[in-house]
Amino acid sequence: MRPLPEGLFVCADCGDVRGKTPDGLLSVCFCQGVVCDWCGARSRRPISDHYDPRLGHWLHTPHFILGAHVCPPGTAPREGRPFRALPMDDDLKAYSEAMTRLTFAMVEARTGIRPGPTDDGGDADDEAAPS
Ligand SMILES: [Zn+2]
Ligand SMILES: [Zn+2]
Repeated sequence: MRPLPEGLFVCADCGDVRGKTPDGLLSVCFCQGVVCDWCGARSRRPISDHYDPRLGHWLHTPHFILGAHVCPPGTAPREGRPFRALPMDDDLKAYSEAMTRLTFAMVEARTGIRPGPTDDGGDADDEAAPS
């Protein structure tokens, strides 16, 4: 296997590559992914990146990745949502917040509507009213 980029290492828990490069790229391993509460399998976290050492390059996990999850045969469905996000470290929290801001900015650029919670006491209608 080729050497990992600087700042990345093999996770002792899941065996995937994790860490942060000097230029800020974040490789997210399965330990910060999502668990299926029906079968216990861990999936990659939607909207995250990871370095694949076999391919020698970076891959992105799209927002819809969990739609591809299929529990093994014999798994009994139970009540409730099957997916549970594992805790994020500070680097991943910052990345996640930056991606949310970027998405909101793109929505606003296309629609003129500012998405997300307002911090003005809920009088968002006032801002949208013609002057
Ligand atoms: Zn891990
Ligand atoms: Zn499952």
